[in-house]
Amino acid sequence: MEYEAVIGLEVHAELCTASKVFCGCATTFGAPPNNQVCPVCLGLPGALPALNRRALEYAIAAGLALNCQIASTCQFDRKQYYYPDLPKAYQITQYHQPLCTGGCLEIMTKQGLKRVGITRIHLEEEAGKTVHAGSTGITGAQYALIDYNRCGIPLIEIVSGPDLRFPEEAKLFLEKLRSILCYLGVSDGKMEEGSLRCDANVSVRPVGEQAMGKRAEIKNLNSFRAVQAALAYEIRRQMELAASGTPLAMEEARAWDEQSGMTVYMRPKEQPHEYRYYPDPDLMPVVISSAWVEEIGRTIPELPDAKYDRYTRQWGLASHDAWLIAAEQKLAAYFEAVVESFSGNPKTVSHWVLGEFSRLLNLEKTAIDAVKIRPRDFAVLLERLAAGTVSGNTAKTVLETMFYTGQDPDTIIREQGLAQISDVQQLQELVAAVLAAHPGPVADYRAGKAKAFDYLVGQVMKATRGRANPEVVRQILIAELVPAEKPAKQ
Ligand SMILES: [Zn+2]
Repeated sequence: MEYEAVIGLEVHAELCTASKVFCGCATTFGAPPNNQVCPVCLGLPGALPALNRRALEYAIAAGLALNCQIASTCQFDRKQYYYPDLPKAYQITQYHQPLCTGGCLEIMTKQGLKRVGITRIHLEEEAGKTVHAGSTGITGAQYALIDYNRCGIPLIEIVSGPDLRFPEEAKLFLEKLRSILCYLGVSDGKMEEGSLRCDANVSVRPVGEQAMGKRAEIKNLNSFRAVQAALAYEIRRQMELAASGTPLAMEEARAWDEQSGMTVYMRPKEQPHEYRYYPDPDLMPVVISSAWVEEIGRTIPELPDAKYDRYTRQWGLASHDAWLIAAEQKLAAYFEAVVESFSGNPKTVSHWVLGEFSRLLNLEKTAIDAVKIRPRDFAVLLERLAAGTVSGNTAKTVLETMFYTGQDPDTIIREQGLAQISDVQQLQELVAAVLAAHPGPVADYRAGKAKAFDYLVGQVMKATRGRANPEVVRQILIAELVPAEKPAKQ
């Protein structure tokens, strides 16, 4: 029997507001432990929460960007559970009425465009952070420390429909979601700092039929790689169980163990009724007018899908290149600024931005906002290349100097004497000298060894320190070599 996986994601994204969701404490990442706390986020008796308007606006913006309906009121519930990092012993969240519902997100899979449902988005608060210490790993820890700085940071939970079938699709979904949240400026999307992470629900079933067993929820996946690897492992495990006639008997929570490459059983999955949800009496419902929603909608910038369409349809970029640029807002803005200044084809710009420029960014781990090359200068360099003032190789050298110094290309070309030699007479003299100095390769070429031609081009380039226009050199060489006395046939 053939099986398929049914995957749904619950993505948690911290909202990057300056202060927490129900108090005025700062949200700076990496502050000394327990320095950003107050009676409200420590859950001290009598302290009362007050909603951060900006957090609500951010959550609404996320809902709009993901094509959701926005609820007409924002209401909060208490989710009761005890854990040391949750000082109130309940989390303020939205259960009965999520803020956003019924949205969707499109991903480009190998099988084509796929629409993934967004079941709900709700606004809630973060818990604190438990730091296991005294040894490595949770199992060997001797004691735990608690940092309440994270307590009360606003969070949205985005729940996808059970529409994903492959680990690769889950990764694509998460990448796209991260890209959109970063564009909106509502989350910094930093998985390595934990501000974006997800739980993955997964079950298996015979293709197109009802699920056979229960589902497992893999908790707290914090990298794209972990999401893909954990799902691949868990799907294989469940398919083997199903094939042997013992599908999952009850819903379970599992952890991903990076080291062993396996998911590990944690506990039976909690059911909603166990949390005893009820409306939070300290927080009155907030009315969300349609005028307010429209106002928030107007702040949404052009999103990656729209950019992708524009790049491929109007500018003729290849699909893959268009997506690589569109996915990163700052890279896209830089790319567009260069295109705007450039008189040539945008594809030339994408080629250079994704090629040599990205290589330098990665090599130096430079953030795009710290780049010294002004977009106008980048465009000028590409124009010099198009006009034949510099060769492709020299343009790379110039770009590198621009990257490290921020100088403009014309100054670099002039000061370093990098202008390309395209003057035919000058090159003819150089070619003649090279031919005279290398009779061996000339004879080889005339005897039919094509490689000797490249050698001779190389010698001319060497003599000019790479400044000769290789196309002109080739033409001169062909003219000089071809009319040579071919051995006449008997
Ligand atoms: Zn506080």
